[in-house]
Amino acid sequence: MSLPAYDQAIEAVPMAMLVVDAQMRLIMANAAARELFGAGILGRPFVTVVRHPGVNDAVEKVLGGAEAGPEKLAAMISVQGRDLSVQTMVSPLALEDGRGAALAFEDRSSLDAAEQMRRDFVANVSHELRTPLTALMGFIETLRGPARNDEAVRDRFLGIMEREAGRMNRLVGDLLSLSRVEAEERRRPVQGVDLTAILRNVVASLSPTAEAAGAEVEAIMPDTPVTVMGDPDQLVQVFDNLVENGLKYGRAGGKVSVSFAAIAHEPVLRGPAVAITVADQGEGISSEHLPRLTERFYRVDTHRSREQGGTGLGLAIVKHIVNRHRGRLKIESEKGVGSRFTVILPDPRATGRGAEPKG
Ligand code: ADP
Repeated sequence: MSLPAYDQAIEAVPMAMLVVDAQMRLIMANAAARELFGAGILGRPFVTVVRHPGVNDAVEKVLGGAEAGPEKLAAMISVQGRDLSVQTMVSPLALEDGRGAALAFEDRSSLDAAEQMRRDFVANVSHELRTPLTALMGFIETLRGPARNDEAVRDRFLGIMEREAGRMNRLVGDLLSLSRVEAEERRRPVQGVDLTAILRNVVASLSPTAEAAGAEVEAIMPDTPVTVMGDPDQLVQVFDNLVENGLKYGRAGGKVSVSFAAIAHEPVLRGPAVAITVADQGEGISSEHLPRLTERFYRVDTHRSREQGGTGLGLAIVKHIVNRHRGRLKIESEKGVGSRFTVILPDPRATGRGAEPKG
């Protein structure tokens, strides 16, 4: 049976649409509405399908009022065991046998979830900034008052204040990085960069940190360049974060190792790839935390992260940069043994050979 073009168009609209007659019976439901409310709804009283007093009132108003215009309302409806946030529009119809109403439902659940995430993010940022700010204000007050003439206390407090200001500075820097990376995420890098050179830089720049932690960074690198399409500054940021985390959360006096591997066919990337693994000998991370580590501000141990000067944004930045490079981030960890963070990037060489690992 083929429907008239107009009905076919309504059927194809992705928004759920219903029509009720003057007795408030459902006389039409397009494909999206049948999917949303269930296949057998035609002929049923409207109130038994959309159980929402506000929507029901709007339909009654449209059916009853001579001057009725379209009614719009936001509603939380419960359909087939799911709660959905919808924007509903009820419009009057003149049917052959009397007044009717057309309803259109726009699913706003994902918009609501995005809005909630934005609110949570702002709340988190405010909280993260307020903690060091409160400390700074407290120390300023003490330095002005009781500790005014105590040189030793003053020096100690200034040291703490410097650390807290540094934390705020890092947080703002990470927030800016994150927003920059997010803004560019759809733009794929087109420049060829040598990963071995990047890693050599990172290891050199972190050697004072490693020394301070009494730890060693060992990089086992191929002696020929390993080229990927990449943004050099962002790739430095990725490995800087991963190696620094290895030092922060690794075993005191332990080793953080960086190694390369070639993957002939990476199933998710569907092609040859280069894998760089940063492994530490720290206490490891329990498996329930692993899927959440790249969320902004997610920390396994907030106290430990703060003590180490962490912002809780490092892995979120890493994840976004890796996404921009069309790569994958793999996190493996074993309690008591250590953690391995592997960045897998597409190998631009069509030969499929990938980089030659060494060592
Ligand atoms: P932070 O600034 O807190 O280090 P990250 O986003 O870099 O933020 O990491 C998030 C959390 O993941 C850390 O707080 C820590 O709990 C955990 N984590 C990251 N790297 C490691 C690691 N190498 N070993 C153990 N835990 C880690």
